[in-house]
Amino acid sequence: MYKRILLKLSGEQLQGKYDGGFDAERAQWIGAEIKKVTDRNIEVVVMIGGGNYARGAQLAHGGVQRVTADTIGMLATLMNGLALADVFNAHNLSARVLTNVKSDQVADQFTHRRALSHLIKNRVVIVAGGIGRPYLTTDTAAVSLALELDC
Ligand code: UDP
Repeated sequence: MYKRILLKLSGEQLQGKYDGGFDAERAQWIGAEIKKVTDRNIEVVVMIGGGNYARGAQLAHGGVQRVTADTIGMLATLMNGLALADVFNAHNLSARVLTNVKSDQVADQFTHRRALSHLIKNRVVIVAGGIGRPYLTTDTAAVSLALELDC
């Protein structure tokens, strides 16, 4: 039996029936699956991707610098995180977004302490912004986060 798990969700999983963007029905289905886990008192951390909106490596051309493109990619993960948390909270699954991209107007900054304080209240912690640095993907960020949060 696990005490805490980390789920990496890529952006493509959130686009559901669309070619891009966010499908709230798909998000609701994902939330229902996660709820089966939290109902067993297993804590859930989600590292959210952004490929349904932007990926740095694809966007970096024609004058758009790689660092800029990766920043846009990280902001895409934040858009997903915000929408996903709303869908979860609207369907009886308590969730909070913490971001590694500084965006204090829209979400709390990720800190280890904040993540733990949500998890012990059985809230799903959705981490956006990857690790907050360019030249990485959310897959790498997920591994780092799993180590940090002992998942
Ligand atoms: N990204 C980044 N640093 C990170 C995590 C992500 O710069 O720590 C950027 C990168 O451009 C990446 C984009 O955010 O392509 C979206 O993340 P990812 O490609 O992992 O999304 P997914 O494929 O999982 O939907």
